[in-house]
Amino acid sequence: MDLFDKCRKFTRAAEARASGYYPYFIPLEDTEGTEVVVNGKRMIMIGSNNYLGLTTHPRVRQAAMDAIKRFGTSCTGSRFLNGNLAWHNQLEQELADFIGKEAGLVFATGMLTNLGTISSLVGRGEVVITDREDHASIIDGCRLSFGEMRRFKHNDMAHLELVLQGCEDKAKLVVVDGVFSMGGDIAPLPEITSVCERHGARLMVDDAHSLGVLAQGRGTAAHYGLTDKVDLIMGTFSKAFASLGGVIAGDAEVIDYIKHTARALIFSASMPPSNVAAVAAALQVIKEEPERVSRVQAIGERMRKGFQELGFNTLNSQTPIVPILVGEDMKTFMFWKELFEAGIFVNAVVPPAVAPNQSLLRTSYMATHTDAHLDRVLETFEQVGKKLDII
Ligand code: PMP
Repeated sequence: MDLFDKCRKFTRAAEARASGYYPYFIPLEDTEGTEVVVNGKRMIMIGSNNYLGLTTHPRVRQAAMDAIKRFGTSCTGSRFLNGNLAWHNQLEQELADFIGKEAGLVFATGMLTNLGTISSLVGRGEVVITDREDHASIIDGCRLSFGEMRRFKHNDMAHLELVLQGCEDKAKLVVVDGVFSMGGDIAPLPEITSVCERHGARLMVDDAHSLGVLAQGRGTAAHYGLTDKVDLIMGTFSKAFASLGGVIAGDAEVIDYIKHTARALIFSASMPPSNVAAVAAALQVIKEEPERVSRVQAIGERMRKGFQELGFNTLNSQTPIVPILVGEDMKTFMFWKELFEAGIFVNAVVPPAVAPNQSLLRTSYMATHTDAHLDRVLETFEQVGKKLDII
C-alpha cells in the first residue's frame, strides 16, 4: 500500500478541469482591485475581500514600499526570538485602541490567529463551542486544542443554550464569526452575549469580514455597542486592511497568556515589515476616509436589493457579502461559467463550504466599484439567470 495511492485515485479536480467547469485557482494576470485580467481578458471582480479597495491606495502602497526600503523584505524569524519589530508592538496598540480593547497581538495570517488563540486557550477538560457556519480556521483551532468541541445550529440561540447547559460545570469558550463569510449575515451578538453571560462562557468573535466594514470599521461588537461584552475580537488583514496577517484583541493578561503559549505565533515567522506598514496605513485611511466604509455598505444594500428585485435568493445577507443561492452544484458551476465568459469574476461555493444543496455564488463588493460596474453585474446576472431558469 503506497501512501500516494489516494492521489492517483483523486480525479475529481482533473474531471472538472476537463469539463470546463473548474472555478478554482484561476491565475490573475493583472489586478487593480475592481478589475482583473484573465487569459488576456479584462473582467469585473466581485469575488474579492478587498472591501475598501485599499490594496492600491497610494498611501498604503507607499507605506509598504517605504518599509521594504528601510527594513528589507522579511523578519526571517518568530516574534518570540528575533523577528519582532517595534512596529509590530506599535501596530498592536493602535489596533487594540481602534477595536476598543486593552491589548492586541498580531500573527502572520488570520488562519494562524485562530489556530493559535483557540488552541492556546482551550485546554484539557475545557469546552469550545462553535456555530455550524464558523470559518474553517476556527474549526481547525478547535481541533488543535486539547479541549472538547461542540457545535450549535447556525445562529440558533435555543440550541446554543442547550449545548451550554450540557457543560455547565466546565470552563468554556464560544466562538462565532461576526459576519459569516459565505452568507454575509451578522451574528446576533445581543442574544449571544446574554446567553454566554448566563452560562459563564467566554466569547470570541471572528471579525475577519467586519473590521473595516461595520460600525465605521470597528467591527461587529461595536455595531451592536457590545464591545465590553465580547471577551476576544479577532481580525484579519487580508481583507479590508489590504495586507496579510491577523490580530486578536482583549484584556491585557489574556493577550499576554496567548502571546507566551500560542504555538502558531511562537513557531512561525512574524509579519513582514511591508505587511505591517500596509495595515498601519490602511488603519489611518479607514479613520480619515469614513466615506469608504459607508460606500461599501451602500453598495451592499444596492446589490442585495437589485438581486432580490430580479428574483434571486440572497439568503440573510446584511453586509457587502451578497450570496446568490443556486442549490445544485452543477447548476452553480454552469452559472459561474456563463458569468465568467461574460466578464464577471465571482466565487462558486459548493459543499463542504456550504450545506448540501445550498451551493451558491458568493458576490462581495468594494468601496471602489463604480456604478457602471454594478449596473453591468446586475444586467449580466439577469441575462444568465433567465437563460438558466434560475429566475
Ligand atoms: N476567519 C474568517 C471568517 C475568514 O473568512 C478568513 C479568511 N477567508 C480567515 C479567518 C483567515 O484569514 P486569512 O486569510 O488572513 O488567513
